[in-house]
Amino acid sequence: MQSVEAAAKAVAARIERLATERVPLAEAGGRVLADDIVAARALPIFDNSAMDGYAARSAELPATLPVVGQVAAGQVMTEPVPPGVAIRILTGAPMPAGLDTVVIQEDAKVDGANVTLPASPVGDNVRRAGEDINVGETAVTAGTQLGAGSLGLLAALGLVELSVVKRPRVALITTGDELVDVTTTPLPGQIVDSSAHMLGAMVTACGGVPSYFGIAKDDPISLAAMIASAFDHDAIITTGGVSVGDRDHVRSALTAAGVELELWKVAMKPGKPFSFGVNGRVPVFGLPGNPVSSFVVFELFVRPALLAMGGAAVTERPRAPVNLVRGYRKQEGRAHYIRARLERNGEHLIAHPHPKQGSAMLTSLIGCNALVELAADKTEILPNSVVPALLLDAV
Ligand code: AMP
Ligand code: MG
Repeated sequence: MQSVEAAAKAVAARIERLATERVPLAEAGGRVLADDIVAARALPIFDNSAMDGYAARSAELPATLPVVGQVAAGQVMTEPVPPGVAIRILTGAPMPAGLDTVVIQEDAKVDGANVTLPASPVGDNVRRAGEDINVGETAVTAGTQLGAGSLGLLAALGLVELSVVKRPRVALITTGDELVDVTTTPLPGQIVDSSAHMLGAMVTACGGVPSYFGIAKDDPISLAAMIASAFDHDAIITTGGVSVGDRDHVRSALTAAGVELELWKVAMKPGKPFSFGVNGRVPVFGLPGNPVSSFVVFELFVRPALLAMGGAAVTERPRAPVNLVRGYRKQEGRAHYIRARLERNGEHLIAHPHPKQGSAMLTSLIGCNALVELAADKTEILPNSVVPALLLDAV
């Protein structure tokens, strides 16, 4: 058996970033930036007022000064401002040349055409050109998934088109003579192929584009043909048929389809049977059939791989120490991944393990926002132990 860490490393070593493509800024939300973006203009572009008030010369204050002009956002005061005067200025308006401070209107006393201003340091209430970002500074780094903040910044910098990494196109193949499509009412002995839907959603959530190839029968020849027909995709996921049952043909089908197999048994629960291989540049993930096992294996090995293919700088889930109030008993040898809901209690995260932990029990995923990780060498986790957990998006 291989440790989870060793298996994850072996997978990561075979994963390559996909090619890039140009997309308009308006379509770049959620995409992963391919290259660092360096600011070609400063932000702000010009010194401007942060508040509504009066612009003056700091060295002349405090003073009562005539107000000789007004400048609002979008206007520019081109004529030089003589000494001994103030200018009415509104938020966002460029600072008139020669003036260096803004007194907010709440602190100014207006009397007819004059205003009395208190002392005000140089630069007070002035947004300096380049104080947000200067020309030549890196605005957003490669590998960032573009969200509201980065899109706003890139727009302010005038980027109309961006280089992003292509989304991995992922073929999904489920296997099993017992499986039927969701639209079919199962006959005795049949079950719905639920994993196709669960895994499709997981692929989408990590930036991939799932393409469902359908249910392969437990017959190595047709399975090999279906796998081979998916090699024009960026990655292939199969489910089921990877343990040692009589009908578990995925291993031989993968080999027959030219997939170089990498690993077999991982010291984890759920999810022990897992195969991974590559055909050229295409990684093939052979997930276990039990839905929750395939969920956990996807989380630990497929998600980081798809994120890396998609160019993401961060591919791991964040981990946090959580409190396992009731403790846990397990056998030595495999790391356990307990589906749990985390609840905050002051500074602590309390893990509430789902009462149903069976690897075929889909309800154990409902409301689950963490996988509590119990190391392979542990047997008894005492009540109130603090253990690591992978933080998931709500499932
Ligand atoms: P297997 O690894 O093929 O022996 O499958 C293990 C268990 O998972 C069996 O009970 C299968 O019926 C079930 N299973 C396999 N594939 C799926 C699927 N796509 N959706 C739901 N259950 C599945
Ligand atoms: Mg099967």
